[in-house]
Amino acid sequence: MTENHIQMCLRGVGRDYVMGDNIVHALHDINIEVSAGEFIAIVGSSGSGKSTLMHLIGCLDTPTSGTYTLGGEDVSAMPDAQLSGLRNRRVGFVFQQFNLLSNLTVLENIALPLAYRGMSSDDRNRMARKYAVMLGLEDRLQHRPTELSGGQSQRVAIARALVTDPDIILADEPTGNLDSVTGKEIMDIFLDLHKRGYTVILVTHDPKYAEQGTRKIILRDGGIVDDSAVNSMQTNAGVLEHGERSTKGISFLDLLKVGLREGLFVHKMRTALTMLGIIIGVAGVIAMSSFSLGSKQKQADQIRALGANMVRIVDNRLEGEKLADTRVGGSQGLSISDMHLIKETIPGVRMAAGARGIKLNIVTDAEFISRIMGVTIGYPVVNNLEIDKGRFFDKTDFDNNARVIVVGHSIARKLGGFSPVGQFLLMGGVPYRIVGTMVNRSIDMKGLEASGIADANYDILMPIQTLLARTRQIEMRSELDEIYIQLESEDMLFESGAALRRLLAMTHNGVTDFRLVIPLDLLRQKQQAQRLLDVLTICISSIALLVGGIGIMNIMLASVIERIREIGIRRTVGATRRDIKLQFLSESVIISIAGGVVGILVAFIGVAVTCVAIDLPMVVSSFMVFLAVAASTLTGLVFGFYPASQAATKDPVEALRYE
Ligand code: ADP
Ligand code: MG
Repeated sequence: MTENHIQMCLRGVGRDYVMGDNIVHALHDINIEVSAGEFIAIVGSSGSGKSTLMHLIGCLDTPTSGTYTLGGEDVSAMPDAQLSGLRNRRVGFVFQQFNLLSNLTVLENIALPLAYRGMSSDDRNRMARKYAVMLGLEDRLQHRPTELSGGQSQRVAIARALVTDPDIILADEPTGNLDSVTGKEIMDIFLDLHKRGYTVILVTHDPKYAEQGTRKIILRDGGIVDDSAVNSMQTNAGVLEHGERSTKGISFLDLLKVGLREGLFVHKMRTALTMLGIIIGVAGVIAMSSFSLGSKQKQADQIRALGANMVRIVDNRLEGEKLADTRVGGSQGLSISDMHLIKETIPGVRMAAGARGIKLNIVTDAEFISRIMGVTIGYPVVNNLEIDKGRFFDKTDFDNNARVIVVGHSIARKLGGFSPVGQFLLMGGVPYRIVGTMVNRSIDMKGLEASGIADANYDILMPIQTLLARTRQIEMRSELDEIYIQLESEDMLFESGAALRRLLAMTHNGVTDFRLVIPLDLLRQKQQAQRLLDVLTICISSIALLVGGIGIMNIMLASVIERIREIGIRRTVGATRRDIKLQFLSESVIISIAGGVVGILVAFIGVAVTCVAIDLPMVVSSFMVFLAVAASTLTGLVFGFYPASQAATKDPVEALRYE
């Protein structure tokens, strides 16, 4: 650098403010050239435009007319990112109000501008420490700004201005908030900096200080009224060596850290409450879908326990004229021979059994309602029933129309005693010997009504021949009420169903006096209907997410207002609009992602506890978890966007002025 190297140059610069119908000409026709190494004092009464001029020189603001070149670059019409870069690299700003960030330590405040260069935190701290030591702050590094005196605060601000190794130090009434002794100390620092080779431009109201520079500019009503050399003090251009100044932006990790430490952790309660909406939404989606899946699986499991590979053919039990019509039509209704034919001719049938119900008056001490049925020999196998005590009917029982019965678990219990096997039960005035009891079928029949399956615990079974021998003569009723068919596998339900229909159409002479019931199919239909409920829960959870999102937006908007000064300070030291936007956006996204994660944990714990409590299989859909997390993250992005944009578009100068 040569002594007369022009560092910056304002030509015909004006700055107008529109105030309603009025235009305030804060500055007009300003022409200044500054060479490296000068120490310029700017004086003028309040409102004369000193601060406006400093903001222009410091690239915090752009002129409304004229041109401004800094280091050979025309600044007048630069886009934001480049202007921010210039602020970060070429100028160091010192204000009357110190403008330190209260949530950062002294060291972090000094290092702040370097973060916006993408410098690693080790390098940042090393540099910051160097300038802190230079300004006598070495024993205050971990203090907060509130624990500092005015003089110390201003030293921190000066260190922060110097840490970026700028060309020009701009100081707008830096001693204005200090007592005279401290003011002099600060003034001495600027004089010392000038000796070291820095270009200093200083606004001061103190005529004594104004005489200590190399040049004095007097402003009045936005114009320069005097610009003259003050004394013969030599400029010190060329003494200062500038290192390389990288222009990399702030790292993503640093942005996240800012969002966490200076945003979310500062207001922990507020953050937690804001998160709640997201937590409820996410936990709701996952828990509800788990319960729905779990109860479906439970029902399916139970149907399988009852025999999923089962088809029932049910006689329509017509009466009177209609019954007569079917008999005239050539159908005898469901019969034992139908059952045998099915077993022998339909492929995939493993076992078939028949049953016929009867109403009999039971005389006993205990009261109970039961289903009394005559059954064929295959009945327990087809229905997955097991004998507990005693035995099932044997061939002799069937052949001899023996008066023997097997009772369900609940009936056995009602009859009392250790085991009712061997006792007699009076039914329809005739004693029947109990030869066996059935194992407790511990299946929750709730939710299975649709399958048409009755609770076997309340059944009383007798050989079909015994029953027919008693009641055949009574009416035209079909021989069997139901035929139960067990297939080789669940997959054959529909093929075999069709074959069954064809066969029975033939034996019933084309009369359809029966219907096919597939329990598993009925259950599936019912579960289809439950989908509506699933959609509803997803809707409700979406509303929770939406409300959560609005909560985020609300809090972020409040946060932007609260932190306007912080935004101004960050912008001054070189943060771009984009940096500010990402900083606030990262906060809302962190809230929503954290809310999503907590929501998942809450859902898992809630689902696990509930499933154990109400005996439901725990089924968590990974798709639902993914969906919930994606939706919550998106919520944070969408609802955080507007506040973040608001933060980003704040004018730095206005932001700094905000009280
Ligand atoms: P100084 O720093 O010398 O006291 P300023 O540069 O702050 O003066 O202000 C110069 C003039 O510009 C004043 O009349 C002030 O009212 C006006 N001014 C500054 N900023 C704004 C603004 N944002 N809107 C309207 N007028 C402004
Ligand atoms: Mg001012």
